[in-house]
Amino acid sequence: MGVTIHGLLERNARKYSKKEAFITANTRLTYEEMNSITNQLARNLLQNGVKRGDRIAIMSRNNEHFFYAFFSLMKIGAIPMPLNIRLTASELHAILTNCKAIGVMYESELQETVSSIPLASQLDHLLLPIQELLNSAASFEKTNLNIPIDSRDVCEILFTSGTTGIPKGVLFNHERLLAIATAISQTFNLSNNDKMLNLMPLSHSAPLNTFFLSGLYSGTAHVIDDFTPKAFLSYIQEEKTTFSFAAPVAYLFASKDPDLATYDLSSMRVFAYGGGPLALASYHHVKKAFQNENFYQVYGLTEVGPNGILLKPEEHLTKAGSIGKYPTVNMEIRIVNEQGEDTAPNEYGEVLLTGDSLMLGYDHNEAETKAVIRDGWVYTGDIAYKDEDGYMYIVDRKKDIIISGGVNIYPREVDEVLAKHDSVLESCVIGVPHEEWGETVKAIVVPKGDVTEEELREFVSAYLADYKCPRQYAFVEQLPRNASGKILKQQVKKEHSAILKS
Ligand code: AMP
Repeated sequence: MGVTIHGLLERNARKYSKKEAFITANTRLTYEEMNSITNQLARNLLQNGVKRGDRIAIMSRNNEHFFYAFFSLMKIGAIPMPLNIRLTASELHAILTNCKAIGVMYESELQETVSSIPLASQLDHLLLPIQELLNSAASFEKTNLNIPIDSRDVCEILFTSGTTGIPKGVLFNHERLLAIATAISQTFNLSNNDKMLNLMPLSHSAPLNTFFLSGLYSGTAHVIDDFTPKAFLSYIQEEKTTFSFAAPVAYLFASKDPDLATYDLSSMRVFAYGGGPLALASYHHVKKAFQNENFYQVYGLTEVGPNGILLKPEEHLTKAGSIGKYPTVNMEIRIVNEQGEDTAPNEYGEVLLTGDSLMLGYDHNEAETKAVIRDGWVYTGDIAYKDEDGYMYIVDRKKDIIISGGVNIYPREVDEVLAKHDSVLESCVIGVPHEEWGETVKAIVVPKGDVTEEELREFVSAYLADYKCPRQYAFVEQLPRNASGKILKQQVKKEHSAILKS
């Protein structure tokens, strides 16, 4: 049968029964309390007709209701599918339909959002408001259910960010989730003295699988729903937090709080971040502001946990901008060229990852699974190179590469140059169809002051070879983004892709 995720909770409820382990804005719960509540809730779910293998979406903000739903579903062998609550009703409808969800467990405050999903009316009998279920579960037994569950059964489905279409469901079983949790726990030497604070939505793989599950080895998990620099800083001070997990921009925001110096942050052992790099200047800035150098960058993607490679504090000093050289404990990483050979220093290629924490595959999508996992390696779609010392640098996403006259152009490189211009707030560089060249470069720019196309042309040409310089510019007020904040490049392309002739 093997060890399961909810089995860890049950073990902790015996071993560290009175340890306060779950802290949210509304409540503080020990392992024993969380275990008893989720046992009762699990029994209520069974009574409501939820069965082993049923796929049930979770819609909750970062609070205790998320954990109640997550564990109670696992305890009966149903499959939790946490959803990003910022998605639109039609996006949620598409996900629920594609992944054959038969119900939604939701926090009562989200009743309106849930009701606006067209599919919800067809799921009527399995619309499960968590707080109401809790009330009616009060009379149920608190003891463990002991339903035999195989650690190889699918036990979680997460959704990729979906910047290119409908998000894909990523399947994990208990074995793989435990491998992720073990790897992160060992990588950061977590102990039961650790108090971990998470600022990202728990529907994303990074906060849920890497942060929360690794903390389940015995630590304490704090989650914040509405991030503000002050909430973050005062949590650390009051709770004596040792480990935080956030997007780099959250640390930058917090580092600019005018009252920062009045907070005691000395308990912090690890400031972990992922999703993008911290430039050297920003690293120096946050390090000085927090009077703490323990910043760790993690690179990975949902398909591997996300668990991949780490850039440690001392490595930031010489290799800022890199994702690192040494993979986390149970992972391997390579960069290969189009012939499938490991690249030489400074040669561009695709990042490949393998290890114990790979997804089982995409849900109902064998073709895509075969395209992404080949010979046991996940083809990440990220283009990168390594320097002479073996440190790796992400250059761009493979599918975003512009091929003009047979030559590859990496839009991120052009975006980085545009970002240096004082009057550019942000940009999105895309390839647009061109009759002769196949594709050519176009920059969609959000200006933050007066700037003309001519000025930008001249500016960019000082940094980049002529073939990389945008042939066309468009100025817009803002760029479209998905619910997790990533720019919707495909939408930008659709809106700005008229065929060019010269
Ligand atoms: P997701 O599956 O939503 O977590 O997105 C994973 C993608 O985010 C990766 O394939 C990368 O393109 C990007 N990413 C994640 N971590 C980093 C990082 N530390 N630096 C640069 N890009 C990153």
